[in-house]
Amino acid sequence: MIRIGLIGGTFDPFHNGHRKLVEAVLKSGLVDRVILMVAGQQPHKTKLKVSAAGYRYEMAVRGVSDLELVEVSDLEIRRPGRSYTVDTLALLRHELAPEDKIVLVYGSDVLFDLPSWRFPEKILAEADLLIAHRGGISQQDAKAQADRLCQDFNARIQFLDAPMLELSATEVRAAAVRGELDTGKIPERVASLISRHDLYGYDDELAVVEPAIWHQLSDYECQVRPLLNHKRLLHSLNVMRYAMHLAQIHRVSVEKAGIAGLMHDCAKCLEAHTVLHYARLAGDPELLEPALAHGPAGAWLARHQFGIEDPEILQAIHYHTTGNGDMSDLDLLIYVADKVEPARTYNNLEAIREAAETDLVQAMRLCLVEVEAFLERENKPSHPYAQAALMKLGVWVQQTDRTDTKLPEES
Ligand code: ATP
Repeated sequence: MIRIGLIGGTFDPFHNGHRKLVEAVLKSGLVDRVILMVAGQQPHKTKLKVSAAGYRYEMAVRGVSDLELVEVSDLEIRRPGRSYTVDTLALLRHELAPEDKIVLVYGSDVLFDLPSWRFPEKILAEADLLIAHRGGISQQDAKAQADRLCQDFNARIQFLDAPMLELSATEVRAAAVRGELDTGKIPERVASLISRHDLYGYDDELAVVEPAIWHQLSDYECQVRPLLNHKRLLHSLNVMRYAMHLAQIHRVSVEKAGIAGLMHDCAKCLEAHTVLHYARLAGDPELLEPALAHGPAGAWLARHQFGIEDPEILQAIHYHTTGNGDMSDLDLLIYVADKVEPARTYNNLEAIREAAETDLVQAMRLCLVEVEAFLERENKPSHPYAQAALMKLGVWVQQTDRTDTKLPEES
């Protein structure tokens, strides 16, 4: 029999309070191993903007990567729609031996929420509870609430006898939005992920985006997740957020920018022959080269696998590798966002980013110049679609030695 301590959470971000909780649970001897369950769309947090699941999963993985007997599960975030603990428990149960025991671990704040969850009686019949005292709730109040749950639902509840850190994700996130990443509050590996991807950088301005759009994007993320490796997923999420940021400035549909940004590389990690197959189905014989074909292949996949019918979104995905001579604002925006999203690191990015804030066409010109210089150095031909874009935007590329700039891997 194995006793599993299941710690569910939003982890937005994963902080040292979470880490201390994991360590205390392992040390208590009451469980044999811990699973961190990264929350999917939470029914009781529908109005709050929650960071994309891919980021939250990555933060949790990094936050406990040096701890033994801890695993991070993506069981909830693999499934579109809302996640209910009662369903998660049923799914997890299938993966365990019948004699294994699930112990749900929560901070004491959760004791008060639990009765309003879906089927609390089923949850409490399936799992024992292990509760950590958190500030804001007195031990007396927590115990009284635990007694009520025992009475009403026959709950089996134990308290962790270990001091916790006075920290909440809300407080740590608010500091991160201001650019303050205190490694006393967040594990260093998590802090470096946050700053590299500027994970909370657009939160304030994107707070006006309607929850329904975030939910739609979250569902698309679930669908695209199995097709991408973790690096590509983080890049796609960065392009999504940065494209939404630019869309707000340039009065392009934020929804379309988000979907196109998230989906632009959906074919990128597939086997080369599969990419080529989908690119052929997309019907553009000009874009079948291995480095470029994931554009049309992605557009085909977005339409036929993910049901995205909007021609503007599909076009932006199709041409994101080359551009073309007749680009819409959405096309420009996705092309530029792909090149200069926050985690990109090559030279001249700042000039492109600065231009992108006011003039998309100028940002596109600067991107094209960099790409042409890169191709020249690599001795590779420029694609006719890229040439058409250069012509249309009136860019004259000097054939000079530009050894100071390098584009990392193209996408
Ligand atoms: P928020 O501020 O958004 O409510 P949170 O810090 O409570 O966030 P969650 O990710 O939802 O973060 O928490 C996951 C689990 O960890 C919950 O059971 C919560 O009670 C517990 N927890 C969070 N912070 C602490 C802490 N500082 N000490 C002990 N438990 C904590």
